[in-house]
Amino acid sequence: MLSGHRTFKEFLYKYNITLSFGSLSWQTESLGEVFAKTGKRYGTKCKLWFSIGCFIGAFCSIICMLALVLHVIYFISVQLKSTEPTSETLEQQKRDATIVLLVPGVNVPVTHIPSLIISLLLSAVVHEFGHAISAASEDVRTEQIGFVFFLFLPSAYVSLSTSDLTSKPLLSKLKIFFAGIWHNIILCLVCFVLMVLFFNSSGMFPSLITTSDSGVYVRGLATNSALHKQLEPNDLIHAVNNFPITNGQSWRSSLQNIMNTNRGHLIDAQYLQTNIKNNGLSCCEEDHESLLCFNDWNDKSNKMCMTARDVLNFQTCSNTQQLSAGQYCIVPYSDDDVIDLVGIDAVGKKRIVYLGDLKNLNREVTVSDVHSKFSFLSIDALSWLLRTLNYTLALSGALAILNLAPAYNLDGDAIFGAIFEFLEFYYQYPYKKLYTRIRIFFTFMLALNILIAAYNMIKIYKQ
Ligand SMILES: [Zn+2]
Repeated sequence: MLSGHRTFKEFLYKYNITLSFGSLSWQTESLGEVFAKTGKRYGTKCKLWFSIGCFIGAFCSIICMLALVLHVIYFISVQLKSTEPTSETLEQQKRDATIVLLVPGVNVPVTHIPSLIISLLLSAVVHEFGHAISAASEDVRTEQIGFVFFLFLPSAYVSLSTSDLTSKPLLSKLKIFFAGIWHNIILCLVCFVLMVLFFNSSGMFPSLITTSDSGVYVRGLATNSALHKQLEPNDLIHAVNNFPITNGQSWRSSLQNIMNTNRGHLIDAQYLQTNIKNNGLSCCEEDHESLLCFNDWNDKSNKMCMTARDVLNFQTCSNTQQLSAGQYCIVPYSDDDVIDLVGIDAVGKKRIVYLGDLKNLNREVTVSDVHSKFSFLSIDALSWLLRTLNYTLALSGALAILNLAPAYNLDGDAIFGAIFEFLEFYYQYPYKKLYTRIRIFFTFMLALNILIAAYNMIKIYKQ
């Protein structure tokens, strides 16, 4: 045990891994050399790239500061005005939210956690590598790069040589400080472009999906489903009990409609007479190979034997419907359970007969409005990709916006600290004191914005 413990400790030490309560971190010095080489090799290009980042970052930071203040003012004015929140104001609040907290189990399904962790790691790494590459192009050494997992939430950091950094002119410092934010903005753009290219419904290259307005695609079947032999993923369902299906929404509403009101099939007396003559009542007394026992929906004692496939050819009816003389609205006979008879029409398939509780059908067959263009890419894999791109866009954007604020310990703090230090040196006036006040103000504003986001989240999700 003891030697095992020692080996584990040695292993951690050897690979620069630190374990402490709830967190695991790994730091490396070797990556610094890689960045130094990259920075030297592409020095001029890097300088231009990060100058653009500096310019765009400066513009964004003004918008960010305005947004932080205006959001608080807007929130206070809405609170003073409004009395009881209506569903409309809640919807408005959801749309207006500047910062939205993502809390697994509350507004993020637990199954989304892997996507969330990957997005967080990607956003953090791209941000920190931005700082490191920019620093290398300005001849500032990266001393250490670290990755931290705190309670499974990943983050990263770079520590730059303080002596190298302090000796640099203001513009170089700004390029380095804005580089993380700039790379987060670029990552947002990349995610957006990939989403547009891969997930547009035109079906043109390089889109990975196609859509159809003449049906809904089968996404998957439950392992215990009896429909396995008849339906397969990517089949296009275009009708249920002759109700045309155009998308996932119409599939769900048609099933709901059948379950709630249109469970029966309308049979006329003439057909019934011939049928009873041919088939009798034998199937209602004992199981029959091809015949199914039905009864008049309004009179359970009135039973008849029919072929399920034949009954599906008749239009559907409800038990409250006014029937003409000689018409019957029939449903599959059952002692206690509710049994529905449904005909599913899929492209290129013989009509599929489903006999059972429709609530189960909804669970057994999952559907999708889109269809993967490539057989090796399932719809589940595509939705995972789309979700991860969406989270990366949101988290990378959030990391950029948060870091722009001149609040304690954020990039904005380093940016504005450097600017005010320069002003103090240039004009010989205590500008750094003024900045201390600005920093307190924006730290407070940022905290208020986060509190508002938490308040909005609780209010919205309590409804
Ligand atoms: Zn940063």
